[in-house]
Amino acid sequence: MRTLITDLQSYGLRLADTAAGIPARRGGAGPTDHKAITIAGRTVMVPVFNDASASPFTAQPAGPDGTTLIFRDGQEIGRASFPKAPRFYAHQTLDGIPYWKIATLHSADVLATTVLQTCIRYSDRATSCQFCAIGQSLAERRTIAHKTPEQLAEVARMAVLLDGVKHMVLTTGTPNVIDRGAAVLCDSAFAIKAAIDLPIQAQCEPPRDHSWFRRMRAAGIDSLGMHLEAVTPEVRARIMPGKATVSMERYYDAFAASVPVFGRGQVSTYILAGLGDTAEAILECSEKLIALGVYPFVVPFVPVGGTPLADRPSPTPAFMRSILGPLGRMLRAANLRSTEIKAGCGKCGACSALASFED
Ligand code: SF4
Repeated sequence: MRTLITDLQSYGLRLADTAAGIPARRGGAGPTDHKAITIAGRTVMVPVFNDASASPFTAQPAGPDGTTLIFRDGQEIGRASFPKAPRFYAHQTLDGIPYWKIATLHSADVLATTVLQTCIRYSDRATSCQFCAIGQSLAERRTIAHKTPEQLAEVARMAVLLDGVKHMVLTTGTPNVIDRGAAVLCDSAFAIKAAIDLPIQAQCEPPRDHSWFRRMRAAGIDSLGMHLEAVTPEVRARIMPGKATVSMERYYDAFAASVPVFGRGQVSTYILAGLGDTAEAILECSEKLIALGVYPFVVPFVPVGGTPLADRPSPTPAFMRSILGPLGRMLRAANLRSTEIKAGCGKCGACSALASFED
């Protein structure tokens, strides 16, 4: 199973048509142009738009039951299904905003939103992260710039009641270099928790003042993500010149300060393999993070159309296995498990095969 997921996420999937019927996740913060697919009981995100043209994997509708046949090099290898469009997507707020513009379903049971769809770094290519498409969905009017706490609370409640979502991801563009989004995440989480009991992960850059961690926890945020994306100074400076001004030391300090607040394993980071870091560099960094009690969620880079890295290929399955194999063993030895995370990307796990290497 781990081999299949790793290969699918590296090569992508060519869809025979749009019969699967579910729009893929396009644009937004972080890796996109993905489609959720459930295979052998696990839902994973697989690239389908811009990196699958040469993939050995193809999908074809299997018949009226809605399942899909997956082929590798023309040989049928199994059946899969695509999560149905959630029911909450059909609703809108009193002021007329469709719920799907406020938050979207990720994987099978995760509600995700980018609270602020703007970022101080994005408008200038000299500072923006080259993999990021946070402005695209806004420009295409598929979302709104600022989701208010009231809107988020309303959508979260309905997504739980109508579709049984299990946890929620609140990410944000970086609005300033002081709290770096922590304040708006606190306001959002507080309103959501008042409306519905839903575990929340918040994601932001390290705030300047570590006291924000206690405020975030008190506001109802269960897990925290501070995403490194790349770990080597040269790669960071090249791929994300603005964010690289926040040094690795600042991140390590923030990790050390936040773990006692959120708990061991409840703070995580997202590392994109395939941006130029060597496997050794990613593993060395992961070792330090695990020692601090931080879960390093390593995912394969997926190029996003319209970004400067649109033509950069995803990493090979062999490269991913050279990281995820040793990393899975390190996590096991430290007893740091994705299943213990209360909310967020590490718990969801759909963007990486990492969880299957923890077993
Ligand atoms: S791992 Fe994170 S970004 Fe990927 S589908 Fe899950 S919640 Fe979304």
